[in-house]
Amino acid sequence: MARPSVPINIKRRLYEESGYRCAIPTCRATSALEMEHIEPWAEAPKHEFENMIVLCANCHARVTKGEISKSAVRNYKRNLAITNGRYSVFEMRFVQMFMDAGFADEPNANVTIPQSDFLHIKGLADDGLVRTEPLREFARNTDLDSSLMVVWLTEAGRTFVKNYSIGKEITS
Ligand SMILES: [Zn+2]
Repeated sequence: MARPSVPINIKRRLYEESGYRCAIPTCRATSALEMEHIEPWAEAPKHEFENMIVLCANCHARVTKGEISKSAVRNYKRNLAITNGRYSVFEMRFVQMFMDAGFADEPNANVTIPQSDFLHIKGLADDGLVRTEPLREFARNTDLDSSLMVVWLTEAGRTFVKNYSIGKEITS
């Protein structure tokens, strides 16, 4: 019997969940997107939102070959539910930038942003994932621009970014 197509409402929710990108944080491709059944179709022959995730063709193949484990895929899905509910798109771009720059392994790595942007990362700061300080105080130089602030990952933030990246649960 032919496999029925994925119902449009499930398809839409899945794409919204992953931001219309591959759900693997280190990939985030926007093309050749497919819907993967986390429990294989042979074992769970139905389309259910909870058991599905958007992956690009390349990552989908890596999952099929076992290069990306099913448990990691399950955690990527769980982490998306948490980050989508808790953080803004701006905050997740920040997390993504820290991840891409390798900040998870560098306690002293930081970026400088306008202090007026603090509101946009307040959720990360409130959860203790990032810490901020005015650039002048951070650099101990009162000649520096008073409108700038420095942002860096706390130890909890570095763990968060690492787990988000490799497909481990980001909360206990
Ligand atoms: Zn991918």
